[in-house]
Amino acid sequence: MNSDQLSDQRLQEALKTAYLRGKEVTGKGAVATYIPELGKARPEAVGLCITTKDGKVYKAGDSNIRFTMQSVSKLLSLAMALEIRGYDTVFEHVGMEPSGVAFNSIVELDTRTKPHNPLINAGAIAVESLLIEYKQFEDMLNFARTVCLDPEITLNRQVYNSEMATCDRNRAIAYLLKSKNVIHTNVDTSIELYTKICSINVSAESLANFAMVLANGGVNPLNGERLLKESTAQTVKAIMFTCGMYDGSGTFAVEVGIPTKSGVGGGLLSVVDGKMGIGVYGPSLDENGNSIAGITALKYLSKELGLHMFA
Ligand code: GLN
Repeated sequence: MNSDQLSDQRLQEALKTAYLRGKEVTGKGAVATYIPELGKARPEAVGLCITTKDGKVYKAGDSNIRFTMQSVSKLLSLAMALEIRGYDTVFEHVGMEPSGVAFNSIVELDTRTKPHNPLINAGAIAVESLLIEYKQFEDMLNFARTVCLDPEITLNRQVYNSEMATCDRNRAIAYLLKSKNVIHTNVDTSIELYTKICSINVSAESLANFAMVLANGGVNPLNGERLLKESTAQTVKAIMFTCGMYDGSGTFAVEVGIPTKSGVGGGLLSVVDGKMGIGVYGPSLDENGNSIAGITALKYLSKELGLHMFA
């Protein structure tokens, strides 16, 4: 099915129902509180946005709320590192296998030569450390604005400060990576960059736009401008499919079948390849740290609109 073949009305109705289904389950999860500032989010908030290649935008619920990207930003770092440092260098420092453990797990890292994949904390810290000599945070922020087609993306200082005060586990990961010669940068510098990138403020629409660019092979479909190499978009999407939902990645791939990346701020970025981008905000999280409303909404959309990759 092609997005052109889905009528405006059908898409809008499906999005509305997905929103209501998501809203129903928000009470079953909880907002993240290990970064104290994230604990201020409204658990019942749900926002959805779909952007299609022909420039249509569909929204439901709290789609304009700004929230921090958190781990969805691991896609930005991976994309930028692939563009600047290249595939071979990136995957010399990080693997491409699902980890099967929590996103901030440290135990098994000590038994390995490099992190499992770029979408867990250890992997993202390794990838971002590859960028430090080449790029500043401002460059990353501009990159985010470009690929999300959203010039209003900014750093959320409150969330950044809150996470910097409570990120001992990420520091421990970075020290371990340094002791294993995976990173060669100063640990403080790596952690500051990692935490800043996690703390950039987006909306469901910004995430939908980035997803749409990825769905379109790295080209902004609205003006034909190439923003990422096709090979970058391909690698990012493949890793999202296998590793994007942490320890829930396998179930999500089977039941929803849309490459997706989550963040503990409540964001989900979903790529319906060749067709559309979907962005979700829903800060009530399940036990894997994924948006509980978002998963329910995407499951509904996938079935209703035939969006499963293997449908
Ligand atoms: N900044 C968060 C952390 O490092 C990101 C985690 C997430 O979104 N899963 O813990």
